[in-house]
Amino acid sequence: MKNNKKDMNAIIKALNDTFESYEENPNILFNNNSKLTYLRYKLIKEKLKIWKKSKKCIYPNCKNDSIKLSHTIPKSKILNTICENKHVYQPYFNAMAGKAEMKKVGINLASTFPGFCPKHENSFKALEDNIGIEHFNSFGLQIFRTICREIARKKAEIESLEMMKGQINNFRNNELKNNFLNNLPNNIKNNPSFKFQSLSSNHKDSKIEIINRLISDAKIDKNILYNKFYSAFDDSNKKQKHIELFGYSIDIDHQIPIVVAGIGNFYLQKKQNVMSILNILPYPSKTIILMVSEDKYKDHITAYINHFKQNPLSILTLIETWLVHGTDHWFIRPSIWDKLTKLRQRAILTNILDLSKNIGYYCDYSIFDNIRNTIIANFEKSEKYKSASKDFIKFINKEKKKLTNVSGSDKTDEYIFGNIGSLFKNENEIFIKPY
Ligand SMILES: [Zn+2]
Repeated sequence: MKNNKKDMNAIIKALNDTFESYEENPNILFNNNSKLTYLRYKLIKEKLKIWKKSKKCIYPNCKNDSIKLSHTIPKSKILNTICENKHVYQPYFNAMAGKAEMKKVGINLASTFPGFCPKHENSFKALEDNIGIEHFNSFGLQIFRTICREIARKKAEIESLEMMKGQINNFRNNELKNNFLNNLPNNIKNNPSFKFQSLSSNHKDSKIEIINRLISDAKIDKNILYNKFYSAFDDSNKKQKHIELFGYSIDIDHQIPIVVAGIGNFYLQKKQNVMSILNILPYPSKTIILMVSEDKYKDHITAYINHFKQNPLSILTLIETWLVHGTDHWFIRPSIWDKLTKLRQRAILTNILDLSKNIGYYCDYSIFDNIRNTIIANFEKSEKYKSASKDFIKFINKEKKKLTNVSGSDKTDEYIFGNIGSLFKNENEIFIKPY
């Protein structure tokens, strides 16, 4: 193309117009619905591929490739006890619809991730065998497996977000190019000597900024999981200061038809983040609740659990709190979910995505209505209830209200430490040690 001044000015004007309108309103590049739908579809597919692909075995110092389907939760011992027709329900984020939904999943696939090589997958056999999770070492194995899955999840999340960032950048540059070409006069565009190579912008797009923030948050979590939790099980690095974890377990002599294996957090004063590994494991006639954190938070974890184990209704609240404000890696018996009203289901699925809350906030509505009703009825029938304190009756009334409350909007800023009182007999402290 002959570089005459008139053409040059037209090109510069087209460039200025393109960038100015973009910087004024970055969303103009993301206005085309069908292109956006395709981009979203592509991102979801890529994300799934990243999560599912086989990786290196996550066991300390193992270089073998992982199998694709390592279970986080014992299938025969735990998932089997809450499934119906070999299926359970699991919440998941439907990225196309932009909301959390409940999906039906077969117990062969539930809780699986590309985690361990065949040899190390076999080391969790004790959890599937008759020894069961009650055995001391099995607690450690179960917690270790949960930590490994969370690390795999964080790694995949970081990889997915980096992929997304790249794809969105490409999409943006491509749209900028299209807009630039649209802004160019036809005589320049159609001139055979006009050649276009590429166009990119350094403008800080809010979408990219959000992704950068998510990447940095995921990296912080991954590092805590590695350095503070995983390292406690990795005794190969002798130079490293030994890390101790502190765990608390509660046995309930009743089956709660829910399985949980993930992480949750709460904050201490000065925004100090306490991360914990959470497990709820149901058996035919009992349920085990496990909470494990760094040893330095022993007192806080103890106070937290003590607060909830005052009576069975509080324990139910603890479980509901973990489901709504803790991890989203849980499985529920389908009929329990199906019995909930649509409003309650929506409240749960919306609250799962609300990252402003954590397990330091109460869930203020009921999920396990039948169990709550039974416990309340038993309380009211008992002789003791006739002489119950005003506070206790107030507490029972609040629990009754949870059966009809669906909003989930009562934000409780009250933190729960410092409460004492133990009415539950079966608790026992456990120390997780490297094996
Ligand atoms: Zn291995």
